[in-house]
Amino acid sequence: MLVEGSDHARPARLAASVLRLIAAPFEIRGKQVQITGSIGIALNGPGVASAEELVRNADLAMSAAKSQGKGQSELYQGRMHREALRRLDLKAALESAIADERLEVHYQPIVRLSDGLITGFEALLRWFGDDDEPVPMDEVIPIAEESGLIVQIGRIVLQRACAQARLWQMDPSTAGIDIAVNVSAWQLESGSLLADVRAALQESGLPPSSLIVEMTESALIKENLPTIRALRELRALGVRLALDDFGTGYSSLSHLRQFPIDILKIDRTFVASVARRREGALVRSIIDLGRTMNVAIIAEGIETAAQADELEAMECTLGQGFYFGRAVPAEAVGELLTIGRLPARPARRPRARSA
Ligand code: C2E
Ligand code: MG
Ligand code: MG
Repeated sequence: MLVEGSDHARPARLAASVLRLIAAPFEIRGKQVQITGSIGIALNGPGVASAEELVRNADLAMSAAKSQGKGQSELYQGRMHREALRRLDLKAALESAIADERLEVHYQPIVRLSDGLITGFEALLRWFGDDDEPVPMDEVIPIAEESGLIVQIGRIVLQRACAQARLWQMDPSTAGIDIAVNVSAWQLESGSLLADVRAALQESGLPPSSLIVEMTESALIKENLPTIRALRELRALGVRLALDDFGTGYSSLSHLRQFPIDILKIDRTFVASVARRREGALVRSIIDLGRTMNVAIIAEGIETAAQADELEAMECTLGQGFYFGRAVPAEAVGELLTIGRLPARPARRPRARSA
């Protein structure tokens, strides 16, 4: 749509009316249907060289609007073009990192809160750029998802993590170690996850019950058949399922009812403020919920002894976070395993449960 005139606020007003109109429910064959739209707005001006550039800018703004969620409009800004270029660069660099086998998997310990005993590790992807600086995963994962590279990357992480866990299990002192691997919605929908998990287990010889597949609530939002089937089939293999970042997504409770979940991971935003009254009460109720539903609870992002103590007093059994250890390469894990307990100090004395 072309809007003429010099009133710069007019396109936004128009966009809002269009979105409202689109969002109005209507009927198809007696069923109520509702759709949403996303609108990008670009203004013509001295910086715009051609009609093509104006349309491209509007397109970039529309992508930005889409990523904000449903039914939004966005005005083009110069940074959107720079960000699009950066994403393209990163995607190309990621492709060559895969080809050159430069992606790494690091391992963060998961411990029993009562005594710091390491019960397993979460495998976390790591990618060090040409400058040897780690590229933040919050940036890498969305690009990997957008480009479909996540399926390939997911396969690599699964293979390595399962093989590594099997190696640790060969040592009698660490025979019971579990390994948790993150998967994204894309992998669930791609249809290859089950085959990839099966192959990783078979090649490594890792028992399925030692593998935990973590997914976030947003991965489960699309309650579509392929996703539900993938989860059921994984579970039938004997693999356990964990709901990651619990409490940050939507309709958490309905997910718990619908999906065959074994473990809830309490998001670190709750853990960070566990000492506060309201947040503490929330954490306590998630722990109670887990107990009622026979689901194990892992508190994520524990950074201080006080948080660990607080959670333990709430009878949360497992935890993970910088206080116990960051994600490290497999070589460094060997050292952690010889210590066996984290932090490397005598087991905490059992404390009386606070009222
Ligand atoms: P996540 O699965 O919830 O992983 C935990 C994240 O929290 C990790 O960030 C970890 O380094 C960080 N973390 C752990 N303890 C603490 C703490 O005490 N304080 C703070 N501030 N942070 C802590 P990371 O590695 O940057 O990963 C971010 C997210 O990227 C992960 O969140 C996960 O959703 C995704 N991700 C990482 N590796 C993979 C992968 O192999 N595949 C997929 N699909 N996603 C992955
Ligand atoms: Mg995770
Ligand atoms: Mg998490």
